Amino acid sequence: ISNERKLLVGTESEVNLPKLNEMFDIDADIPVVIAGPCAVENFEYLDQVAKALKDNGVKLIRAGAYKPRTSPYDFQGLKEEGLKILHEVSNKYKLYSVTEVVDTRDVYLVQKYADVLQIGARNMQNFELLKEVGLTNKPIILKRGMSASINELIYAAEYIALQGNRNIILCERGIRTFETKTRNTLDISSIPIIKRETHLPIIVDLSHSLGRKDIVNQLAKAVLAAGADGIMVEVHPKPELALSDSKQQLNIDEFRGMLSTIGY
Ligand code: PEP
Ligand code: MN
Repeated sequence: ISNERKLLVGTESEVNLPKLNEMFDIDADIPVVIAGPCAVENFEYLDQVAKALKDNGVKLIRAGAYKPRTSPYDFQGLKEEGLKILHEVSNKYKLYSVTEVVDTRDVYLVQKYADVLQIGARNMQNFELLKEVGLTNKPIILKRGMSASINELIYAAEYIALQGNRNIILCERGIRTFETKTRNTLDISSIPIIKRETHLPIIVDLSHSLGRKDIVNQLAKAVLAAGADGIMVEVHPKPELALSDSKQQLNIDEFRGMLSTIGY
């Protein structure tokens, strides 16, 4: 995006936003880590994950209450009940909570319970939803659509910024290609390009990019070397029993191992 309109999220924009680490009061010498189960399933599981985060110095917990599932017959999330559990657990361990909102009608409710709102890949160009979260004062994680170009991601962020909310965190989560060894193809080149063309922080969701966990440690190091401000990863106490994304969720031991490879 060059020689065009000056974007609010562009590099020349005069707004001075805090760095991602500063936003969540995290030491500048460690990457921001957002971790947690794909979905809130029950209090006990989320409590176990939150305790592991707390014990290992991770400050942001993710968990979906509204799940955008490919099949309508699959687990759709606990909705408000899930938000309540996430709220209770994040308060108990003094963690920032991150959760997805999928519908304009839910934005008010979700922002009452959560600290950070996530727009999922499937909704990256749901412009009405972007405008609605742009009216809140919560940080927004905007995930790249699985078939979206980098320019489209940047313009989607601009929709949010135009409503007044400049607290936007972009998230690379892989794009669709012909490759089948991974769930999506992790486009690492988007990281330095987004750094060059916007002033927004960028994180990488390793779990949804890869769809597998045996190569998460290598890719965590790779995306941080490429300049990512942080990573997101799915963690579940018993991944084999998870109601969604069972294959890609790390168990708590695997999560600790990943953290140690990135300097935690
Ligand atoms: C998620 O993070 O829970 C999720 C559904 O990811 P994505 O929108 O990137 O597919
Ligand atoms: Mn998931």
